[in-house]
Amino acid sequence: MAYNINKIRSYFPVLNQQVYNKPMVYLDSAASAQKPVQVLMKEEKLHNDYYGNIHRAAHFMADKATADFEAVRDKIQKFINAESREEIIFTKGTTESINLVAHSFGEKFLTEGDEIIVSEMEHHSNIVPWQIVAERKGAKVIKFPFNDLGVLQLNLLPKLINKKTKLIAVAHVSNVLGTINPVSEIIEIAHKNNVAVCIDGAQAVQHTTVDVQKLDADFYAFSAHKMYGPNGVGVLYGKKKWLEKMPPYQGGGEMISEVSFEKTTFNEIPYKFEAGTPNITSVIAFGAAVDLLIKAGISEIAAWENELLEYATQKLKLINGLKIYGEAPKKSSVISFNIEGIHSYDLGMLLDKLGIAVRTGHHCADTVMQHFGIQGTVRISFGIYTTKEEIDIFLEALNKVILMF
Ligand code: PLP
Repeated sequence: MAYNINKIRSYFPVLNQQVYNKPMVYLDSAASAQKPVQVLMKEEKLHNDYYGNIHRAAHFMADKATADFEAVRDKIQKFINAESREEIIFTKGTTESINLVAHSFGEKFLTEGDEIIVSEMEHHSNIVPWQIVAERKGAKVIKFPFNDLGVLQLNLLPKLINKKTKLIAVAHVSNVLGTINPVSEIIEIAHKNNVAVCIDGAQAVQHTTVDVQKLDADFYAFSAHKMYGPNGVGVLYGKKKWLEKMPPYQGGGEMISEVSFEKTTFNEIPYKFEAGTPNITSVIAFGAAVDLLIKAGISEIAAWENELLEYATQKLKLINGLKIYGEAPKKSSVISFNIEGIHSYDLGMLLDKLGIAVRTGHHCADTVMQHFGIQGTVRISFGIYTTKEEIDIFLEALNKVILMF
């Protein structure tokens, strides 16, 4: 089936606007994606028709909201092919999902002297939670390095693992380098050594098919707002065998079974990890975003975005003094670059004045910046709605900016 970009774009009226009297070109979907009308309408409908707090209420509106909320859990289960719905936990986003694992897995399974292997290309969200728990438990964080192409040095992994290793934390796709990491191979090596793996899927689920059972991932985290859904919602997939043994992350409503001053018992998974009123509206609207991804087809999206990636990469390489960071053979929809003699912030600011939205700076990935000895980069990133024409407009603007210097 041909990818119907015009149809897809028609769902995102926000894209048809001018900024500074120039057509707006949005190349920052990796930071946060725009929202389609289906998501906006779902939010509105909920509030107009049947809003109520979920799970415990005894009235029509709350029952309907509960049913819709739980239906999204089923949808996500299918979307990533989890074995059971109990393995899908709603969180605030990838960051909270990873903090949950670090806290609860760490509390239960880490002891003094243990080691956690963390890849060098992680977002701060997949480094700092591990450092915090390592500090608390007297454990160590060990670096899993990448080479100058932005490829993880898989051959080093077996040597980094030892009897003390408890978990490996790695991104499925790097938010700076765009590298698609060999997570299947990493998991296979880890499991041969009885080591669990926590995958940061924030930059992957919207671009590539994810099957957590096929991957055999222990934990897989992602955010709705990067998947054309609302912000304030994320998912943690965790294997039942871990979640059942892990202590709660936060205490409060819904996560309990019974409370007394003498003793509190906890709810079953996934509710054990969902303390307090969740982001009901956003979870329900997230379902509409997942429907859109399914309807557009993840393989079709991947093919379209790969074409854009290839096209933009070839054109950028023709620019004098431009260096791309991340040249792995397998990449997703992100290109980071610098131009000799021009600060990334200046480039970003001037591109903005020409209507182009890009990201500049360290992209919450200081260890990637340190690897290359740089302060930051300009990053362009594509979404389901990006067109070749927009890449041309961006390239023209970039050339204009270069001429200004
Ligand atoms: N991990 C990666 C790879 C990311 O790109 C991001 C956000 O940019 C995050 C984690 C954090 O996601 P969130 O801010 O939605 O929790």
